[in-house]
Amino acid sequence: MNTKNIQLIAMDLDGTLTQHKQPLDAAHKEALDRLGRRYSLLIAGAGQVGRIFSQIGHYPIDIIGNYGMQYGEYDRDAKEIRLVRDIRVAADDREQIERKAALIRETYGYTVYSGGSVEFHPSGCLTLPLLGTAADAAEKLAFDPDRKKRRKIYDAVAGAFPDYHVFVGGSSSFDLAPKPYDKYYALDLYCREKGLPHENVVYIGDDYGLGGNDESVYRSDFNYLTIDHYQDFPQVIQPLLASV
Ligand SMILES: [Mg+2]
Repeated sequence: MNTKNIQLIAMDLDGTLTQHKQPLDAAHKEALDRLGRRYSLLIAGAGQVGRIFSQIGHYPIDIIGNYGMQYGEYDRDAKEIRLVRDIRVAADDREQIERKAALIRETYGYTVYSGGSVEFHPSGCLTLPLLGTAADAAEKLAFDPDRKKRRKIYDAVAGAFPDYHVFVGGSSSFDLAPKPYDKYYALDLYCREKGLPHENVVYIGDDYGLGGNDESVYRSDFNYLTIDHYQDFPQVIQPLLASV
């Protein structure tokens, strides 16, 4: 890769910089420090900005959260993250959403579940946990490790919720973000606000397959480095640290 014009390294968090929902370890902090000496850095996450900032142990970096519905800028003096965008979209009719979820459950055999069928987030995002909101953690992990079960019904879920971008999320659920929000939209908006051409950006993310939350960036004009295991991160960034 010709890094001459690269100014910004944007990256996913879970599965890219850390194990799912685990803290940032010393090796990855060091890798970020090295990148940060040469480039601006940005995390583009699926979770909330505050949650991400805690997970990375208050590492000094700007953070896009909730697929672009939130954006936080790191304040170097206060050593805090300052939320500069926090969009909430009123969810559509909840009953209608519940009915659509019930129809998917009946059609594809997911009528047995614990707790609720749909989780409504304050942002307007939705989670459809196939095993229910109160499912056992071990059962969730064992449910669909290769994502085949969810990819099989991905088109049906996306078709039932045309006002949302649908992602194969967590271990047993679908995450839905109201359109136009997804990581591509968020990154493009960030670039427009900073006057930064897409070609000056490299994105790094692990979830670039069908329904993955990085897929929208992977399929776009942004430069993209794929990563399949977060422990590979220091190797994956080598081309960005090579001398020009
Ligand atoms: Mg990821």
